[in-house]
Amino acid sequence: MANKKLDIIPLYEWGMFTDPRPSVVAGPCSAESEEQLMETAKGLKEMGINVFRAGIWKPRTHPGCFEGVGAPGLEWMEKVRSEYGLKISTEVASEKHVRECIRHGVDLVWIGARTTANPFLVQEIADALKGTDIPVLVKNPVNQDLDLWIGALERLNSAGIRKLGVIHRGFSTFEKIKYRNDPQWHIAIELRSRYPELPFFVDPSHLGGSKDYIQEISQRSLDLGFEGLMIESHCNPSVALSDAKQQLTPPELSDLLYNKIYVRDADSDSQEWKENIDQLRAKIDIIDENLLYVLGSRMNISRKIGEYKKNNNVAIIQASRWDSVLAKVVDMGKEYDLPEKFISAVFNAIHDASVEVQNEIISGKSSR
Ligand code: PEP
Ligand code: MN
Repeated sequence: MANKKLDIIPLYEWGMFTDPRPSVVAGPCSAESEEQLMETAKGLKEMGINVFRAGIWKPRTHPGCFEGVGAPGLEWMEKVRSEYGLKISTEVASEKHVRECIRHGVDLVWIGARTTANPFLVQEIADALKGTDIPVLVKNPVNQDLDLWIGALERLNSAGIRKLGVIHRGFSTFEKIKYRNDPQWHIAIELRSRYPELPFFVDPSHLGGSKDYIQEISQRSLDLGFEGLMIESHCNPSVALSDAKQQLTPPELSDLLYNKIYVRDADSDSQEWKENIDQLRAKIDIIDENLLYVLGSRMNISRKIGEYKKNNNVAIIQASRWDSVLAKVVDMGKEYDLPEKFISAVFNAIHDASVEVQNEIISGKSSR
């Protein structure tokens, strides 16, 4: 089904974010106590943050973990707003949450990754928000399903929510990877190219799962042209009741934003060119990473075939098989406008490397 057009109000007309990028939402994973919220908010206000986040209801993987302080935390949030002039935001996962947020004048809400994956809940939230002017940011669903993400945006937009944006926080994965969640940047890039007008945030805290990765993920998302960042910040991360490893103190966040990430200025024509070229290069870097992953996976299978040939006493090279593989890929390459000479060279190099690996296995030089 073709995607519907979305009717979106530009981010800088929401009355809470201002150019130049990045637009930042910061605050603790969870509201824990009035003191923790006020102290964190004070630090963030001092360093120039305008939009404060704190989870009030926390979706936790295991029961028995800290599940948020619930509605009383919204009273503390109101105090954050009145004392420091910060806009306040939290995650909603049900109609009841939305009602509480409306009652306490919450300025922005977001839908969490687990909730975006559930169309019933998204519809319930959209219906409850109908007639309000509250901006909504939709995190990607936990699973790698762009249509499910878009479907959530359509539900909200159909309910009249026009201050609508997204947050990329990566996808759940069973495999052990460097980050807590798998970035799958190409999915975010695809969404951006389908809806260039849609405000786009990245959440380096939940994506990376460690404060050590916040800088590199933030820089990458700016290089890809995304305008916003949602970053977890806690006055004392080491004692945080949730997500302790991925939160920065307000001074650390200040250092990151003002000294460690480079925000490109899109003022002059030449700057615009620079910005575009950097975005394209960032995309190329991601494709290269994917290529390496694919080459590594292919090589692992080659090794398995090598073992199998060894055990069955079969020779490494079956020339006729390779000739037909090569002819097939050369032919398929034409569909992607890839010259025959280039495809032959690439696949012959891949084949040579596989033969070498299998040779090592059969001759007993490799222990793998
Ligand atoms: C959060 O932002 O606190 C949160 C629970 O995030 P996610 O939905 O990305 O897991
Ligand atoms: Mn969190």
